[in-house]
Amino acid sequence: MAPTRKKSFGGLGVMRSELPLSGLTITLREPTGADDVLFAEYRGDDPHLVLRLVERLAEAEADVDWGDLAVIDIDTLILRLRQAVVGDQVSSHVDCGGCGGRAELSFGIETYLGHHRPHQGPLEKRNWGVSGPDDAGWRRLTGAGGIQPRFRVPTLNDQIAVADAQDPPLALAQRCVEPYPLPTKLAARVETALGTYAPPLAGPLRGYCPDCGAAIEARFEARQYCFQELSYRARFVYDDVGTLAGRYHWSERAILAMPYARRAQYVERARRQER
Ligand SMILES: [Zn+2]
Repeated sequence: MAPTRKKSFGGLGVMRSELPLSGLTITLREPTGADDVLFAEYRGDDPHLVLRLVERLAEAEADVDWGDLAVIDIDTLILRLRQAVVGDQVSSHVDCGGCGGRAELSFGIETYLGHHRPHQGPLEKRNWGVSGPDDAGWRRLTGAGGIQPRFRVPTLNDQIAVADAQDPPLALAQRCVEPYPLPTKLAARVETALGTYAPPLAGPLRGYCPDCGAAIEARFEARQYCFQELSYRARFVYDDVGTLAGRYHWSERAILAMPYARRAQYVERARRQER
């Protein structure tokens, strides 16, 4: 994919949206060159970096500790950022197992988020249910007899806490499910409940090859995908600093402080004058 210059944030510089789980209304601002340097220079999905970027780019109507937000809210925020910077459409090319050709799987972020809305309120299944949450976010599995395990939706702070663990998914489960491990049947119920209250923004995408009709599948991990793409796009920043410093003798700091759209305007001008 060749990086293209595009007017991000619809030219407004900010975007408002609501997070699905907390219901928090947030404002995202357009990344500056300094944010782009962060995107470009750090390992994409490191949760520490995610927190830093969210703290820099997002504002909430209320005082909020971004690390306390559920992973689904953080990943939604990242998809919103991608939507504002790059656009709504996501497409990925897959090798077709049927004919060996290249097929494209594409979807819109708006639609994707619409299909991954968290369930609100209690959960009633045939033999079991879920109650809560309490003030600390714990919900309890009911109807199991014997053990009544409790669980909570993982937050960004949980991901940060387990980032250096030997087995992060295991460490995360130990923090968010009690007791752990659970008998298989109860573990499956907790997993179902978690997927209902906080559908993961990662998983398989399915479609059909337009040439031979074979089923095709690709895995989409919202956070990883968006960070990779934003980091790729952010690498423009070095050329831009070079162009603008050469042409106007502005300092790196001044150039990095500009919103992307303004920087792009100056760069276009400088390159026109070079010719
Ligand atoms: Zn095919």
